[in-house]
Amino acid sequence: MNDIDRKALADKAKLKLNSFQELFKNLRKLKGKELDNAFMYTHDNVFEKTDCLQCGNCCQVGTPVFSEKDVERAAKRLKMKPGDFTHAWLFTDSDGDKVLKSTPCPFLGEDNYCSIYEDRPEDCRNFPHTRRKPMLPRLNVVLANTAVCPAAMKILEIMQTEYRT
Ligand code: SF4
Ligand code: SF4
Repeated sequence: MNDIDRKALADKAKLKLNSFQELFKNLRKLKGKELDNAFMYTHDNVFEKTDCLQCGNCCQVGTPVFSEKDVERAAKRLKMKPGDFTHAWLFTDSDGDKVLKSTPCPFLGEDNYCSIYEDRPEDCRNFPHTRRKPMLPRLNVVLANTAVCPAAMKILEIMQTEYRT
């Protein structure tokens, strides 16, 4: 994804904000399991046709939250002490979360491959949080991710066609 596409996606997310909030009103009427299944089905369909290696936007502009376990795992992979890993790349934000000091992520290669892929943080594994259980408390996270992730945008657009009023 180039810079122009990135801006276009962020602009589109702003334009779609109200209509996605309308969608969420309908989605909140679904039973928990029904909602989870609707997201799971749409997520799987969209990601079947999505090549993240052609995008990499989440790793370019965002930062995962690193849990203690994430730090330990990534540091071990890099043969570092967790404290040194934290000192080199992370800081604690205003929410008390450990996040990257800078973006793009230092573990992102030019080919969009993640150099610590097998030991990447849980947050990276779950991004854009469209296949979680339960989905209900995560709707606003997904909404925010539409500004960054074309797949999250597509998932909500498809759901709009199925759950419109
Ligand atoms: S750790 Fe890997 S998957 Fe996570 S943001 Fe960095 S490059 Fe992307
Ligand atoms: S998860 Fe979304 S933003 Fe990240 S690389 Fe895949 S399509 Fe792009």
